[in-house]
Amino acid sequence: MALGTASTRTDHARTVRELLASGERSYSFEFAAPKSERGERTLWDAIRRIEAVAPTFVSVTYGAGGSSREGTVRATERIATDTTLTPVAHLTAVNHSVAELRNVIGQYADVGIRNMLALRGDPPGDPMGEWVHHPDGIRYAADLVRLIKESGDFCVGVAAFPEMHPRSTDWETDVRYFVDKCRAGADFAITQMFFYPEDYLRLRDRVVAAGCDTPIIPEIMPVTNVRQIERFAQLSNAAFPPALAERILAVQDDPAAVRSIGIEYATELCARLMAEEIPGLHFITLNHSTATLEIYENLGLHQRS
Ligand code: FAD
Repeated sequence: MALGTASTRTDHARTVRELLASGERSYSFEFAAPKSERGERTLWDAIRRIEAVAPTFVSVTYGAGGSSREGTVRATERIATDTTLTPVAHLTAVNHSVAELRNVIGQYADVGIRNMLALRGDPPGDPMGEWVHHPDGIRYAADLVRLIKESGDFCVGVAAFPEMHPRSTDWETDVRYFVDKCRAGADFAITQMFFYPEDYLRLRDRVVAAGCDTPIIPEIMPVTNVRQIERFAQLSNAAFPPALAERILAVQDDPAAVRSIGIEYATELCARLMAEEIPGLHFITLNHSTATLEIYENLGLHQRS
């Protein structure tokens, strides 16, 4: 029996492809695998609050290695079995042979996961270091898309970069490799976080001009504290708006004011995007639901549930 057709599949294990095809906008949230028991409690507190607004799906990131990877499989399994949510499990190629990747895909299939986000991943330790693939592994996300698709009836998402992937040298090659991932079988894409709506729209138009209609869901992350200004730039290479940095730094001694500016900016960004034809919005929660739920409420979306 091909993986993914196991009898453990639950009724609410819909695919993101089916959900997007319904024509309704998708609203989804991203969590990270917990690294401690306390982290696990925080995560589950956030998951239960998010469950109450009935999002289209939720996703769980795949760590750089070790216990956080087991944590991803465990958390995604529990979401599939103990909640009404549709989970998307992230998977990266970092430090995995093809046999190990098949094994993780099999574990996901066994617990009824039908949606995966196929990512190359970054070199552990230094995300901007040189990418060296596992000797028996795969080189690029497109190969992982093919591997997952060969393994069973899965719906597969990929990453997209509104400001170009930091290691890409020019837009033409960046978009060409993105379209390759889609042609390898990707059903949808989720972007890196960004701060200017134009960056998302420009990428979307470039992909459409290259003849590809894979839905690209913009990813949103509100700034909720001053330290994130630098952290964001390191993690995502996203251009941080100088005017936003200035407003935040002016109230840096008042954490509530910083948070409120971050939420206001993210709400406006979402509203600008919603005025365009976007397939949905994907919110990074950092395992704390409150800021993203505030944005959700500001946009009037809580009335959907
Ligand atoms: P790829 O699509 O393989 O692209 C990587 C680079 O290689 C690009 O510059 C691309 O243009 C180039 N390229 C692609 N194909 C070829 C080719 N055939 N020949 C030459 N060059 C090529 N990381 C984690 O560790 N865990 C996570 O859970 C995680 N979740 C993420 C979720 C989202 C929504 C996003 C946007 C990123 C996430 N990441 C995660 C980070 C991601 O792993 C890194 O950004 C990584 O550097 C790129 O992954 P990719 O899948 O886009 O790689």
